[in-house]
Amino acid sequence: MERRHFIKKLSLAAAGVCALSGAGSLAFAIPAEGSATHVVRSGETLSHIARRYGVTVASLKQANGLTGDLIRINQRLAIPGRGGSFLAPVRPQIDVAGFNAGRWRHIIVHHSATGNGNAEIFHRFHRDHRNMPNGLGYHFIIGNGTNSRDGEIEVGSRWTRQIQGGHVRSLAYNANSIGICLVGNFETGRPTANQIASFTELVHYLKETKLGGSCRLLAHKELETTLCPGRHFPLREMHQRFG
Ligand SMILES: [Zn+2]
Repeated sequence: MERRHFIKKLSLAAAGVCALSGAGSLAFAIPAEGSATHVVRSGETLSHIARRYGVTVASLKQANGLTGDLIRINQRLAIPGRGGSFLAPVRPQIDVAGFNAGRWRHIIVHHSATGNGNAEIFHRFHRDHRNMPNGLGYHFIIGNGTNSRDGEIEVGSRWTRQIQGGHVRSLAYNANSIGICLVGNFETGRPTANQIASFTELVHYLKETKLGGSCRLLAHKELETTLCPGRHFPLREMHQRFG
């Protein structure tokens, strides 16, 4: 599969006071396929890969237009969702060894205040323009169909490493809060139905399954002076659902 690279222009709203604010307009080279892909390694078969991501071999083949079982080293495979679940493909990444349940007291929701983006784009911005050595400040990114699939969950390295976030100004909250960012500007537009379904599934899993219900959902603007995650994020409904 060909790896095509292109330049995407990232337009950032001036209004947000989020980890991405004040970025102006930047261009990044990013992979056309986004990062919801698996690069085939030596010895792997379709059934290994399907099992790893919790999908069927048939759906993996269908998503990649494969008619046979032959795959080659370094081939990039798209990973489909299982039964409409946004969580299933990334469950293995979320269920990292060394998960530190005692650390996480809050889940803080953000919007990117940009029209487009994905984990890689925001990672480069935070690392190269915000001087954040750990890069991507959020633990999770939920795509809007621009640079990753609509509703796709991307797991950041701060989650897999179980380290502090860089998504709010408060050091104390960064230390004990999981940061989830939905791509989009919800002051001017609305999250997609897939993003809300994906967010709900992810928060439910983190809060109820991983953390035993003990962490609290907060919007960034409930903590600091900011519009984030925007007036069109369904905050009341999410508090009704998650407390
Ligand atoms: Zn924010």
